[in-house]
Amino acid sequence: MISQLIFALLFIAAVTMFTINVRKVIRNIKLGRDIKINDRKGDRWKQMILVAFGQKKMFKRPLPALLHFVVYAGFIIINIELLEIVSDGIFGTHRILAQYVPAAFYNFIIASFEVLAILVLVGCVIFLGRRYIARIPRFWNKEMTKWPRTDATIILCTEIILMSLFLKMNAADSILQSRGSEHYFSAGLFPVSEFLFSYLNGFSDSTLVIIERFCWWGHIIGVFFFLNYIIWSKHFHILLAFPNVWYAKLTAKGEFTSLSSVTNEVKLMLDPNAVVTPENNPGKFGAKDVMDLNWKQLMDAYSCTECGRCTSACPANITGKLLSPRKIMMDTRDRLEEVGRNNDKHGIDFTDGKSLLGNYITEEELWACTSCNACVEECPVLIDPLSIITDLRRNLVMEESKLPSELTDMMSNIENNGAPWKFSPSDRFNWADGLDIPVMADLVARGEQPEVVFWIGCAGSFDDRYKSVVRSFAKILNEAKVKFAVLGLEETCTGDPAKRAGNEFLAQMQAMQNITTLNNYSVKNIVTACPHCFNNIKNEYPALGGNYEVLHHSAFLQKLLEDGRLVMKENNSLIGTAITYHDSCYLGRANDVYEAPRVVIESLKVELREMKKCKTNGLCCGGGGAQVFKEEENGTKRISTERAEQIMETGASVVAVGCPFCMTMIDDGLKQKNQEEKIKVKDIAELIAEANGL
Ligand code: SF4
Ligand code: SF4
Repeated sequence: MISQLIFALLFIAAVTMFTINVRKVIRNIKLGRDIKINDRKGDRWKQMILVAFGQKKMFKRPLPALLHFVVYAGFIIINIELLEIVSDGIFGTHRILAQYVPAAFYNFIIASFEVLAILVLVGCVIFLGRRYIARIPRFWNKEMTKWPRTDATIILCTEIILMSLFLKMNAADSILQSRGSEHYFSAGLFPVSEFLFSYLNGFSDSTLVIIERFCWWGHIIGVFFFLNYIIWSKHFHILLAFPNVWYAKLTAKGEFTSLSSVTNEVKLMLDPNAVVTPENNPGKFGAKDVMDLNWKQLMDAYSCTECGRCTSACPANITGKLLSPRKIMMDTRDRLEEVGRNNDKHGIDFTDGKSLLGNYITEEELWACTSCNACVEECPVLIDPLSIITDLRRNLVMEESKLPSELTDMMSNIENNGAPWKFSPSDRFNWADGLDIPVMADLVARGEQPEVVFWIGCAGSFDDRYKSVVRSFAKILNEAKVKFAVLGLEETCTGDPAKRAGNEFLAQMQAMQNITTLNNYSVKNIVTACPHCFNNIKNEYPALGGNYEVLHHSAFLQKLLEDGRLVMKENNSLIGTAITYHDSCYLGRANDVYEAPRVVIESLKVELREMKKCKTNGLCCGGGGAQVFKEEENGTKRISTERAEQIMETGASVVAVGCPFCMTMIDDGLKQKNQEEKIKVKDIAELIAEANGL
C-alpha cells in the first residue's frame, strides 16, 4: 500500500510538472505574431507521416538514418510498456496486462519490446561513439559549447540506462517466474534479457526480487525524470517534430513572404485612394526580437534537434564565415526562453533592454547568408532558418537602415534606374541591337498576342556577358518559330535583389509596377533566363496580383525539344565534350527544377559529369541573397573558390549554368584558381546555339 502511495505521488508530481512546463512552452510560442496555417490539410497529414514519422529526410544518409529510426521508433514503442508499469504501480499488481490479453500476444509484445530495447541501447552507444570517438565535425562546431554537448550526452546516457534497467528487470522477473516465486506468475517471453543477464541465475530469490524491484523503480523514476527533462532539452523534438512538420511550408522554398503591412503602404503610396486591408498602422517591419517573429518560427526554434545538418551544408559556414543556421535556431530558442522567464518573474510588460538581433545574432552573421535554402533542404524536421534571417534583415534595412554600403548603392540604382547597376533605363533594350526582336506594345497595337513573353531581366539587359545569353535564347526561339515578345523599355527590375536584401518596400514597388504593365497586356505566359526573376515572378507576384505561368528557359527548351520544335543538328559541334552542370539554388532547391537543364544538355550528346555536390545537395555559387552585389563576409575562403574546386574535380572542360549570378561568381572562382582558359562557363542556351551554329 505504501509503495502504491509513493508511486501515485511520484506519478502525479511528474505529470503535473510536465503539464506546467509544456504550458510554459506553449505560452512562449504564442508570444510570436499570429499567422493562419490551416490550408491543404491532406498534404499536411501526408507530410507529417512521411517526414516526422517516416523520417524521410534522414534517409539521404541511410546508415545514420536507420540507426536514428531504430532508436526513435524503438524508444516510442517501448514506452507502450509504460501503460502496464503505471497500472501495476497504481494497483499494486504485477504484469497486469497479461491477465487481459491472450498469452501468445503478451509473449509477442514483451519479446518485441526486448528486441527493440537492445537495438535502442546499441544505437545510443553508436551515437555516443560518433560524437566522442569519430568526432563528426558538425557535433563540434563553435555553437556546440559545453551545455549543448552535455545535453546530448545526458539524453543518450539516460536512454542507455533506461533500456538496461528494463532488460535487467525482465531478466530477474523471468528467473523468478521459472522458479515459481510468489507474485511472479508466468507471463511474457524474454529472449534478449535471459541471454544478456544469464548470470543472474546464480542469485537467490530474495536478491532477485531486490534486483527486479530496484530496476522497476529505477526505470519508472528515470522515465519521469526524462519526461520533464526533455522539455528543457533539444530532445523536445521527439514531441514537437510532429506539429512542426504539419505546419511547415508547403509552397516553393524560394518563396519569401510578402509583408501585407508593406503592401498597404506601397498601395497607398502609388494611389492615396487605394482600398487596403486593415493593417494601416504597420507597427514594426521585420523582426528585432523573438516577439516580432511568428509563432511557427518560434515553434521551429523549439523543434531544433541541434543535429547541425543545416550548418554542415551552409556555404557560408563551410567557407569559414560566422553564420551557422543551427546557431540561428539555438539563439532564437535561448532568447525566447529568456523572455519567458522574464515574463514569469516580472510580468508581460517587462523589457530587459535586450533583443535577438544584436544580443544574440550579429549583423555579420545575417549578411553572410546567400539565401541558398541548403539549410532548409537539409533539416530533418522542416525548420526554416532562412525565414528568420530574412525577417531580421528586413528589420535592419527597413527600421534601422543598417546595411552594407554596396547594398545601399544597389537599392538606389533600382530606385533611380530600375536596375541594380548604374545604367540608363533607356539602354535597357540595347542587348537586342542587330536582332529583330518583337516588342509587346507593337504586337498588342496590331491586335496580336504572343505565345510567350521573354522576360530579359537586368543582367540580360545590361551585363555584357549575359547579353550574349539572352541573344542566344532569342535566336533559338526564332529557330523554333516561337511567337514571342519582350517588354523592351517597359521592363524594370523585378525587385528580387531588394527583396532578398530585406528591402520589402522597394521590392513591392518594383513588383507592382511590373504587374501593372504585364496585366495591362493580359500576359499569361512568361519565360526567363534568370532563376531569380523566374522565382520572384512565379512565386511572389501572385500575392500582389500578378498571376502568370512562368518557365525558366531550361524548362522551355526541354518543352521545345519534346514537342519536336527544336531539333539538334545531327553532328553538333559539342558531341562528346565533357560538361558539368552547376545547379542554381533559385532554380533547383528553391523550385525543384533539376531535370530540365540536364535533359537539354544531354540532348547535345555530350558527356555530362556531375559534381560531388549536385541537385538537392548542390553548393551555392555565393551570389544569391544579393551577395553578388557586395563583398563577402570574412571567412577562410570565397564560396565561389570552393565551388570552382568542385568543378575542377570533374575534369570537365565546360561548366554549364542557367543563371547570370552563377555565371559571374563561377567565372570569378575559376579565375582565382587560374582555370579560366581550361574551363569555360557557358549558359545552356549558349551551348544549344553554339552547337547548332545559330
Ligand atoms: S540559406 Fe544558405 S547561406 Fe543562408 S543560412 Fe541557410 S544554408 Fe546558410
Ligand atoms: S535547424 Fe534542422 S538541420 Fe539545423 S540543427 Fe536544427 S534540426 Fe538540425
